[in-house]
Amino acid sequence: MATGKINVSVENIFPLIKKFLYSDHEIFLRELISNATDATLKLKHLTSIGEAKVEYGNPRIEVKIDKEGKKIHVIDQGIGMTEEEVKKYINEVAFSGAEEFLDKYKDSGKDSGIIGHFGLGFYSAFMVADKVEIISKSFKDEPAIHWTCDGSPEFDLKKGKKKDRGTEIILHIAEDSTEFLEDSRIDTLLNKYNKFMPVPIKFGTKTETLPKPEGAKEEDPAPTQEVDNIINNPNPAWTKQPADLENEDYKNFYRELYPMQFEEPLFHIHLNVDYPFNLTGILYFPRLTNDLNVQKDKIQLYQNQVFVTDNVEGIVPEFLTMLRGVIDSPDIPLNVSRSYLQADGAVKKISSYITRKVADKLSSLFKNNREDFEKKWNDIKIVIEYGMLSEEKFFEKADKFALYPTVDGNYFTFEELQEKIKGNQTDKDDKLVILYASDKEAQHSYIEAAKAKGFEVLLMDSPIIGHLMQKLETSKEKISFARVDADHLDNLIKKEDAQISKLSDEEKETLKKNLEEVIENKSYTIQLEAMDSNASPFIITEPEFLRRMKE
Ligand code: ADP
Ligand code: MG
Repeated sequence: MATGKINVSVENIFPLIKKFLYSDHEIFLRELISNATDATLKLKHLTSIGEAKVEYGNPRIEVKIDKEGKKIHVIDQGIGMTEEEVKKYINEVAFSGAEEFLDKYKDSGKDSGIIGHFGLGFYSAFMVADKVEIISKSFKDEPAIHWTCDGSPEFDLKKGKKKDRGTEIILHIAEDSTEFLEDSRIDTLLNKYNKFMPVPIKFGTKTETLPKPEGAKEEDPAPTQEVDNIINNPNPAWTKQPADLENEDYKNFYRELYPMQFEEPLFHIHLNVDYPFNLTGILYFPRLTNDLNVQKDKIQLYQNQVFVTDNVEGIVPEFLTMLRGVIDSPDIPLNVSRSYLQADGAVKKISSYITRKVADKLSSLFKNNREDFEKKWNDIKIVIEYGMLSEEKFFEKADKFALYPTVDGNYFTFEELQEKIKGNQTDKDDKLVILYASDKEAQHSYIEAAKAKGFEVLLMDSPIIGHLMQKLETSKEKISFARVDADHLDNLIKKEDAQISKLSDEEKETLKKNLEEVIENKSYTIQLEAMDSNASPFIITEPEFLRRMKE
């Protein structure tokens, strides 16, 4: 039919494409499969509104490797392209997109943050191929076409022989990209980018074991058959309505996402919003240790079921990057740098929506099943405490359900705690003094002494709790935190009726005198009040400043 020159100002754009996208060559497959998916879904739409009078059937996409011919084929049964469409969409539009991209990012282009997520579309095929063919037959009654381009702006367009509807893209893999002719490499890529795409994708066949026929002997091998190897689940859980899913479905999907993860998630949050932006997804709370350095690349970002990245920094608030799961949004701009992302209005809204949903979920877990929430507290507190420190909006909500465990295993909200110690644990300025221990074993006798006086002692042992206590001290009125082993106990105003010691006042005096004689260091304090607890009969306290000096 024609040969022609692709209309670009840059004499040869392909070396540029190669150079700039160097770090991310592998995305070519994602781009081609995305196009094949689009073409299929377009046909679905056109048949459903009666505009395409063809049978939609059960179309799928096939990826084939021809090792000897050094080729990769991507075949779909979608709408296909007419000659005119190839000229318009491939020769002009797609290319101008690439050109515009390169123009815009010529200088910053080496910054992988920008490149990594830019879909260069069809032309990304030239990152791995030195020649590309398109063989396509439109659903419209027009002849098939055969387009060939060898990586220069010149192309060749002639009539094709293809009989059935759809498009086949043939990549002649370049010498430096032969890794993509390996089954295992392609399998890994399909698993990474296309695992949840909406049209079934076939890659080779696999052997399936069939049930043994009746009357088969024990030692007879089970019969097998070769079946198509479909690599994706076209209807992943997050695309469904929460009402249609059971708890078990969420757990199954977790296993699908993390096949190597044997521990079950603690709970999930289904995200589902379509205004003012579009976002779906499922987040899972895994059991978290007290370690802030957990792996933070467990949330996967998708765009219309196409995997984009597992680096959601800037989109999900930092404290939530410890969670796992999937976020899918067509509204997150993917073709821009991270600093731009952080300033983007839509992204900010998404981030605060996610924060709100997480807070709401935690709040409802707390309200609906407090006992269970307390049980989970130790495994989730790190996220909540971190969130309270870093996001003011989250702090406001979490303040109502964040728990403060005592050394005896009771859990109080902050308000409950205040209520509990009011009038019993105040200092001379009428401030509430909240006693805490960070190590139950090491601070055992101090804890017992405080308990014997009728004080509550919290167990605060997470790595950022110190910061959170500071935050609480500044955002709440008239409270302060005090370590149980600092010498505060005597300054606290005690409950009047606390049964403190079994000794009479006289007996105490005598005992104290005796002790003071034995102990030479005058800066030590002697306390007898722990007498009736299970701990030591008395406590000798070394002032905190002395202890610190020794450390
Ligand atoms: P984008 O997908 O962002 O539009 P691409 O460069 O990936 O850009 O593709 C350019 C155009 O080429 C598509 O919009 C589509 O019209 C056409 N196209 C590409 N691949 C196919 C295909 N497999 N079947 C039908 N049309 C296709
Ligand atoms: Mg595309």
